[in-house]
Amino acid sequence: MSLSSFGEHRPQIALLQSSLDAGRLGHAYLFSGDSVSALEAVARTLAKVVNCQSPPTVGRAGLPLDCCDACSSCKRIDAHEHPDVHELRPESKLRQIRIEQIRELIRAVHLKSHEGRFKVAIVSWADRLNDQASNAFLKTLEEPPPTSLLLLLTTEPSALLDTIRSRCLHLAFGEGHAAPHDPAVLAWLTSFVDTAAQAKAQPLARYRLLSLLLSELANRRKAIEKQLSADSPLQKYADIEPETEEKFESELNASIEAEYRQQRGEVLGALLWWLRDVWLLTSGTGGSALGFPALEEQSAAIARRISPKQALDNLRIVEQTHLMLARSNVQETLALETSLLKLDL
Ligand SMILES: [Zn+2]
Repeated sequence: MSLSSFGEHRPQIALLQSSLDAGRLGHAYLFSGDSVSALEAVARTLAKVVNCQSPPTVGRAGLPLDCCDACSSCKRIDAHEHPDVHELRPESKLRQIRIEQIRELIRAVHLKSHEGRFKVAIVSWADRLNDQASNAFLKTLEEPPPTSLLLLLTTEPSALLDTIRSRCLHLAFGEGHAAPHDPAVLAWLTSFVDTAAQAKAQPLARYRLLSLLLSELANRRKAIEKQLSADSPLQKYADIEPETEEKFESELNASIEAEYRQQRGEVLGALLWWLRDVWLLTSGTGGSALGFPALEEQSAAIARRISPKQALDNLRIVEQTHLMLARSNVQETLALETSLLKLDL
């Protein structure tokens, strides 16, 4: 199987290939999706690509962009027999990845590569890393040996420790991960991108972008409050016991909060998809690989004035904030402000 055969994951594959092309493949990736075996197929294929002996295409940085599927390296990786490709899955009865397994993997990754260009470690069901194993893995994730590639696979990215996740570049595969197409989100994103494309990254422009985001979120919260309050039983009965009233009120507040979080996730998700587009464009990938091809012109204008590293940093900054907001009750405005004012656009 070659990378180009994963047609259904074109944006993610395009992203990996443009990183290979630019010689900027990350050292640690978190692949998430609906099925671990599908993710394993992608991970194993990537392992073949970086170690292929007669790649069909080679990128500008001299790295293969796909694998031949026929050389001895490709064949042995398919047969799980390549000495530089290590695959690890939960073993114990508790279906946990134990610290001993991780220690062995770390040792293997730090050894000099036998023959391949890259030492590749594939950790399936990475959400089953227990705390001890996670902690043992942190240092290697933070400072992976050169020419190593660590691939963590999971169906539950939110079950991983923050410390693990923040050290990996997250690629979401599978359904439910297409670029958003809700017209209201798209309209907002378009005005955000237009503003970003016109203004260079001056502090003032960043504040303008921040205020576009904050006002969109505030409007959405207001609309949710209005709609859910109108549907609440509080509006239907004039005479309610104070206790019941309190109960209705707290139910109402909880459902407002839940709906708001959901919508905020969609807005930030769209922003992330767009920052991915900008990143792709910094390495010359555009067109149908983009989540928002209609915004390509504006996105390309930004991609021309920043480096792939800056584009990747942008993506990471917003992804961190997105996850942090989804998982905890951090102060929203502060978190968004800190994040947006750091962007290089
Ligand atoms: Zn090959």
